[in-house]
Amino acid sequence: MNNFAIKILVLDDEPFMHKLLERMLANLGYTSIAACDNGRAALDIIDNPDDSPNLILLDINMPEMDGLEFVRHLVERHYNGSLILVSGEDERMQQAAEKLARAHKITVLGHLHKPASPEGMAELIGKWEPPKQSKPRAARKIYAADEVRAAIANGELVNYYQPKVRTVSGQVMGVESLVRWRHPQDGMVFPDQFIGVAEANGLIDDLTRVVLAGAFAQYSIWQQSGLMLQVAVNLSMDNLASLGFVDEIVGLAAKAGVPPQMVELEVTETSFMDDLRTPLEVLSRLRLKRFRLSIDDFGIGNSSLAQLRDLPFDELKIDMSFVHGAWKNEKLQAMFDSSLSLAKQLGMEVVAEGVEDQADWDFVHNRNCDISQGYFIAKPMPAADLPAWIQSWQKTFPAPQRRI
Ligand code: C2E
Ligand code: MG
Ligand code: MG
Repeated sequence: MNNFAIKILVLDDEPFMHKLLERMLANLGYTSIAACDNGRAALDIIDNPDDSPNLILLDINMPEMDGLEFVRHLVERHYNGSLILVSGEDERMQQAAEKLARAHKITVLGHLHKPASPEGMAELIGKWEPPKQSKPRAARKIYAADEVRAAIANGELVNYYQPKVRTVSGQVMGVESLVRWRHPQDGMVFPDQFIGVAEANGLIDDLTRVVLAGAFAQYSIWQQSGLMLQVAVNLSMDNLASLGFVDEIVGLAAKAGVPPQMVELEVTETSFMDDLRTPLEVLSRLRLKRFRLSIDDFGIGNSSLAQLRDLPFDELKIDMSFVHGAWKNEKLQAMFDSSLSLAKQLGMEVVAEGVEDQADWDFVHNRNCDISQGYFIAKPMPAADLPAWIQSWQKTFPAPQRRI
């Protein structure tokens, strides 16, 4: 990368830091540097297209506008450059600030504790990349209830399937069904753009029925071709509001010839419910019929200890926010390890969600987590692609050492 291409802005309330960092950056070969001691002045520079920096070294703790407030202004301006945090705050605070900025889709290359070392600085700046041409992403469309209703009725919803593999042996043991909407104009629409609409408009039972029927039919097709795969389906809390739902699922599975033990029902407690008696009864009765219950997104929202206490779950899925990157973050490790140990003590199988890269995979493997799911293994795919994917996975899976 041509060092001269990077325009750097140092924002720190202490002027001696400007000198220090400017000298360090110059020694590293970066010459286009500006410095400000307050957020207002920095924003003026950013607002000028000729001067706007593509890398900001940001102090979090400043009088007047602090670093977090400054980040908010960057978000308002759709700032597409990068950020490095350089501050005297402790590790947890730095991580929290980093996470907050990332949550707002700001590129953060990392953080450095004061006094920053030239090596640390060089390493982080080395990660800098020119901003990607921001895709003119159409504002996220919110679909109207009638559109979602029509999509369900017209068969525009399809299930994609994401493999779940046994971490130690690599065996593909099942798939999770993830619904997609093949929209005739808008292309592929993801569930976060229509599940909420379906829930709010009394359409979620219809939607879930379509997903279940599709998954069950697919189970039979795979089974007939010799593939034994457990199928998981996501349920909404609203599906559990009526006892009739038990009979529906039982009926659909029986009709398709799917044994309940091969069906995993994933539940996240997303919305607050006044009366938990019905959901508890629905889930308990499904479990009595031998369907497997899975607690999804464990550790965030309301997927919590209270649910574990009250329901006989067979499987616990550790939310991806505690999995991806846990190898390099002690806090995440502590949370991952305690969820894993809790589930083990309760006799449940554990799935690590969001295994995105080799380092994540090595981590979950090292922790002996039963099952893994994530982009490192495979992205969700159409049913027709699964057999070929399994073949290639089995060929290339680096047979890990079996633990005895
Ligand atoms: P979920 O059940 O926790 O599903 C996992 C989500 O994480 C999926 O997103 C999947 O594509 C994504 N994912 C998988 N591996 C990785 C990874 O390594 N990295 C990252 N960053 N993401 C990964 P998707 O398909 O967009 O679904 C989002 C959520 O929508 C699901 O979260 C689930 O709560 C809900 N959903 C999906 N299908 C249905 C459905 O049929 N019914 C209901 N009620 N909800 C559904
Ligand atoms: Mg799920
Ligand atoms: Mg999940």
